Amino acid sequence: MGVPQPTRSGRQMRAMAGRYQSGHRWRQSVAWLRSQRRGCWICRAFGRPDAIDYDLPPLDPGAFEADHLVPISKGGSPYDRDNLDATHRACNNWRKSKSVAEVLSIARRSRGVRQVEATTDW
Ligand SMILES: [Zn+2]
Repeated sequence: MGVPQPTRSGRQMRAMAGRYQSGHRWRQSVAWLRSQRRGCWICRAFGRPDAIDYDLPPLDPGAFEADHLVPISKGGSPYDRDNLDATHRACNNWRKSKSVAEVLSIARRSRGVRQVEATTDW
């Protein structure tokens, strides 16, 4: 009788949501993106430091994640390199299914406000 793993349901949901992500082609696309050593496009939109530490473990909030600019659920291509960009894991989690236009308009508003220097409360 094992103790239930706390991360199990999260992992299962991930596996279900990302079935397409298990293939060889997907891994190749991610490897290509990783090799670009890009900064996080969401942080860049918000005017924050966008550097990604590519050596962080995959579950770290600051770790690199491949983000689909047009989500697969909205007809984006899972493998097209033009549809992939780098994000921090936390930023990708925050974005969820927001469109790029939504992210940019939120970023624009928050940059206009500017009362809080640290909007990075993840
Ligand atoms: Zn980021």
